[in-house]
Amino acid sequence: MLGVQVLLGDAAHSLLNVTHLGTGLALEDCLVLDQLLQQSLTSTESDENSVAKRVADALTLFSSQRVPEMAAAANLCFDVSKTNMYVHTTIAPL
Ligand SMILES: Cc1cc2nc3c(=O)[nH]c(=O)nc-3n(C[C@H](O)[C@H](O)[C@H](O)COP(=O)(O)OP(=O)(O)OC[C@H]3O[C@@H](n4cnc5c(N)ncnc54)[C@H](O)[C@@H]3O)c2cc1C
Repeated sequence: MLGVQVLLGDAAHSLLNVTHLGTGLALEDCLVLDQLLQQSLTSTESDENSVAKRVADALTLFSSQRVPEMAAAANLCFDVSKTNMYVHTTIAPL
């Protein structure tokens, strides 16, 4: 498993802070990754290759679960930022 890296939180999906989602999403990344790794390591198979394979599978599953969530969050962020820009534009003349 040497050389495998996992990006979590803002390193994987930094959003504009107007959505106030970043910390929750970063913590959710940790919880999901922890759960998947726990599941992969509690199997009774113990040889090193199968452990490496199960961890690799857990990381693949992590990406397949989190990427769509982050895409949805990014879309929400984009919508909210447009709304905020509109509000700022209309408030500015006051
Ligand atoms: C102005 C502002 C307001 C925000 N408001 C909200 C809010 O209301 N609600 C919300 O949920 N989120 C908010 N966010 C977003 C939230 O802060 C981030 O999404 C969250 O902190 C991401 O956590 P993280 O652990 O991924 O990254 P970070 O909190 O950035 O942690 C990364 C850590 O790694 C350290 N680091 C960096 N490089 C290295 C290195 N080479 N070696 C060792 N350490 C390193 C950094 O010093 C830092 O401590 C806001 C962000 C900003 C900027």
